[in-house]
Amino acid sequence: AALFSQRHLTRNILVAMALGIALGVGLNLLGVDAESPGFLVGQVFPTIGGIFVRLLQMMVVPLVLFSLMTGTAALDDVRKLGRIGIKTLAFYLGTTALAITIAIGLAVLVQPGAGFTLNYDHDFAVSESPPLAQVIMDIFPTNPIQAMAEGKMLQVIVFAILFGIAMCLAGEPGKRVLAIANDLNEIVMKLVMILMLAAPFGVFALVAKTFALEGLSAIVALGKYFGLVVVALAVHAFVSYGGILKLFTGLGVINFFKMMRRVQLFAFSTASSNATLPVSLENAEHNLGVKPSIASFTIPLGATVNMDGTAIMQGVATVFISQALGIDIGIQGYLMVILTATLASIGTAGVPGVGLIMLAMVFQQVGLPIAAITVIYGVDRLLDMARTAVNVTGDAVVSVIVAKSEGEFDQAVYDADEPEWQKD
Ligand code: ASP
Repeated sequence: AALFSQRHLTRNILVAMALGIALGVGLNLLGVDAESPGFLVGQVFPTIGGIFVRLLQMMVVPLVLFSLMTGTAALDDVRKLGRIGIKTLAFYLGTTALAITIAIGLAVLVQPGAGFTLNYDHDFAVSESPPLAQVIMDIFPTNPIQAMAEGKMLQVIVFAILFGIAMCLAGEPGKRVLAIANDLNEIVMKLVMILMLAAPFGVFALVAKTFALEGLSAIVALGKYFGLVVVALAVHAFVSYGGILKLFTGLGVINFFKMMRRVQLFAFSTASSNATLPVSLENAEHNLGVKPSIASFTIPLGATVNMDGTAIMQGVATVFISQALGIDIGIQGYLMVILTATLASIGTAGVPGVGLIMLAMVFQQVGLPIAAITVIYGVDRLLDMARTAVNVTGDAVVSVIVAKSEGEFDQAVYDADEPEWQKD
């Protein structure tokens, strides 16, 4: 029974992850790799892990739709919306710019690429970054059902907010539908909590597979690059976020990180902000004390537009590769990297590996050879896990700050050791 309780879930996930990593690394040492994965790593783990991630993804659209509709309707004043939106975006963009600045700063200091010889021969597919006007236009759906079917989160967000506003203004019919939407929201949230119970198995399978296929040997070869990304991620996660949270809210920082553990474990093992979204949202409302009116907006938006961890990887990668190639892109180049990486994160969904595609856009902007990206390919999957954990932490920080500043924050929930439903 202890295996299935919410109370010990975080601990159980942690244990499952440790076991998964140990098994994966062990299998890799025994000769498992992408060419000869064997039945366990080739079939069993991907299936279990895949089902787990699919179940999480299954919840994303219904959850965002109902929680944001009801969240918008629950705002005491709809005029607050504009202010909340601007504040949230400002914090998301600001923290991302800070993240990448830290990354570039550290990389310029440490010089990870000095003396490193690059030899790349394969090609790396480039996707042209769409013009900004198109990115902005794409936020607005032509067909809400299609937006949901294709999982276009920003479009779903726009539709849900507009629907929520109309529901508020529609009198009796609005009230009736709101009551139903509230009920649906409760049910969907309940389902998220039920599915979370499968996490120890899903997480175990996902990390065992990844570590078996990737191994740790690639890390040694790219040790400086890998280590620097990890250090920059840690600095941003603990120093920047801790500082920003303290500065803008005065809340206890240790408590925040304690409550983020479970979400970070989900993000780490799935390497997808999107798949982690249901858990992030549940955590923001039930553990961090962010009222649904704010969390239902900030968290889904953050999963799509806010990727500080990804920006950090891009910053370090740009400096690393330009140093290894002996190309100096100059201050102007670095500013360009900050701008491109920040903007690229807006139009890109938080799914595994997308950071490398965004990096190609950055390289194109500053004129570095895109094929050089293949050099860091080997360690990217593992870094993807780590940076996704940072991505979702950034969403939560901003969510708490906005909630606190809008008076949509529940101190008692934030202070509580564990929420009511988690008790046995
Ligand atoms: N996997 C990351 C995320 O979902 C994005 C990336 O950096 O590739 O947030």
